[in-house]
Amino acid sequence: MNVSELKNYVGGKWISPENYGLLDVEQPSTADVIGRVPLSTAEETDRAVNAAREAFREWSAVPVSRRCELLWQLTNRIRENSRELARLISRENGKSLPDAEAEVKRSLENAEVACGMPVLQQGDKMPGASLDIDGEVLRVPLGIFGMIAPFNFPLMVPFWFFPYALATGNTYVVKPSEQVPLSMTRVAELIDETGFPPGVFNLVHGDRRAGEALIQNPDIAGISFVGTSNVGRIIARSCTETGKRLQAFGSAKNHLVAMPDAKMDDMIRNMITSCYGCAGQRCMASSAIVAVGDAAYSEVCRRFVAASREVRVADPLDPQVAGESMVMGPVISDKARNFILEMIQTGIEEGATLALDGRNLTVPGCERGYFLGPTVFTDVKPGMKIHQTEIFGPVVIILKADSLGEAIRIINGHEYGNGASIYTQNGYYARRFKMETNVGMIGINIGIPAPVAPLPFGGMRASLMADTKAQGKAIINFFTDLKVISERYWQE
Ligand code: NAD
Repeated sequence: MNVSELKNYVGGKWISPENYGLLDVEQPSTADVIGRVPLSTAEETDRAVNAAREAFREWSAVPVSRRCELLWQLTNRIRENSRELARLISRENGKSLPDAEAEVKRSLENAEVACGMPVLQQGDKMPGASLDIDGEVLRVPLGIFGMIAPFNFPLMVPFWFFPYALATGNTYVVKPSEQVPLSMTRVAELIDETGFPPGVFNLVHGDRRAGEALIQNPDIAGISFVGTSNVGRIIARSCTETGKRLQAFGSAKNHLVAMPDAKMDDMIRNMITSCYGCAGQRCMASSAIVAVGDAAYSEVCRRFVAASREVRVADPLDPQVAGESMVMGPVISDKARNFILEMIQTGIEEGATLALDGRNLTVPGCERGYFLGPTVFTDVKPGMKIHQTEIFGPVVIILKADSLGEAIRIINGHEYGNGASIYTQNGYYARRFKMETNVGMIGINIGIPAPVAPLPFGGMRASLMADTKAQGKAIINFFTDLKVISERYWQE
C-alpha cells in the first residue's frame, strides 16, 4: 500500500518539517498503516505561529462580511466533499459511517453559525453616557489562537473553535491528534483551495511536544484544548503562567438515570446508541446507568444486557454494514484496548458482576483490529474504580439508587460533570433533575444531550476548565476582547 507522509500547512504552503520523527497512523479496524504523521518540533510549531502572526494585521482588517464569505465558500467545499470526509473519519477513527456523516454535519453547522458574525460581533453604543460624552463598546479580535485536538472527533472538535476565531478576525493554528491527522489535513486542503490568505489558518502535526510549543509561544493569545482532564490540568497551569486565555474540555463519565415510570422500550433503545455509538468513545457517551428502585434496577439490568448482546460489531467500512445506523467499530488503538481490558479486570476484582463479557470478540477479516464487544457490569457501587474512571470504551456499569435524590447525589459526587440524562415521563422528576444535577449538558429522555451548534457546548467541574464554552454565541467572548471608548468633541 502506498502510505503518504503528511505535511504541515503553514503560511499557505505545504511543508515537510525538517527535524522530526514520524509516527504511523493506523486504521483501527485492521491495524494497517494508512499514513505517517510528522511529530513537529517546537521550532516547526513556532513557524506556524509566526505565519499566523504575519497574517493577523491584514486579516483582522478584512471586513467581517468578506471573512464570512470565505468561510461560507469553505462550507460549500466541505459539503461537496462530505462523503469523502466521512469515509476518512471512519477510516482513521473507526466510527461507523453514519456517525462520521453526523460529525461532518455538525462541523458544517458550526461553520454556518460562525458565518453570522456580522451580527454576532456587533458592539454597543451609548450616546450621552455622560454630559456631551458618548460611550462605545467595540468587540475586537485578540491575535493568534491555537487548538489542541483529541482523537475521538477528528473534524468536529476543531470546528467548535476555528470558524469562530477566523470570522472574528483572528488567525489560527490547529494541532490535530497524532492518532487521527488525516481528516483535518483534508480540511486544510479545502481551506487552501478556498483562497483564505496565507497564514490565516495553519495546521501543525505532532504529539505533546507540538502542543507544549503552542502553549509556550508568547504570541499565542489563547488555547482551546480538548482531551483528558489530566492533560487539561497541565495545560491550564501553563496557560495561567504564560498569561493566555484558555478553554480546556476534559474527561467525562456520563450517567443515565432510569426512573420507574420511564418508557422502557424507547429508553433501552436510546441507551444502547448512547453507550455503544463510536465504541463508547464520545465525550457525551454514557457509561453509567443508575436505575431507581429494585424493580427498575432488575428490569434495566435484564433488558440492557439482552439488547447489548444484539449490538453488531464490525468493520465500519464493510459494505455489508455501511448503511446500518447502529454498528460498533473498534476502539482507537491497541493501547486503548489494553487499558479497557485492564479496567474490566479491575471491575471483576472489586466485586462487580460481569453480566456481559466483550473481551474475546473477533471480527472475521479484521483479526488484527482493536475490537471489543459490548461489556456490562451490574452490582456496581459508587466509588468503585470502574465507576470513578473514564474507561472510554464499550463498557457500561449499572448502579442502583433507592430514590431520585440518591441518583442525583451519585452524579454530583463524581469528579466529572460533562453530561447526564434522565428517563421519565414525570415533569416533577425531570425538573428536579434539571435543577439539582451539577453537569453542563442535561438530557431528558435523550441519551446523548450534545447541544446543536448555535447552543453552547461544555461540561462542569473537572470536565471543563474554562469559563467560556464551545460553539454558538458564547464563544465569541473567548475570541474577542471589549474595547470601551469614551468620546467627546468641543464646540468649534
Ligand atoms: P489526550 O489528552 O490524550 O490528547 C489530546 C491532545 O492533547 C492530543 O492532541 C495530544 O497530542 C495532546 N497532548 C497530550 N499531552 C499533552 C501535553 N502535555 N501538552 C500539550 N498537548 C498534549 O486525549 P485523547 O485521548 O486524544 O482524547 C480523549 C479524551 O478527550 C477523553 O477524555 C474525552 O472525554 C475527552 N473529550 C472531551 C470532550 C469534552 O467536550 N469535554 C470532547 C471530546 C473529547
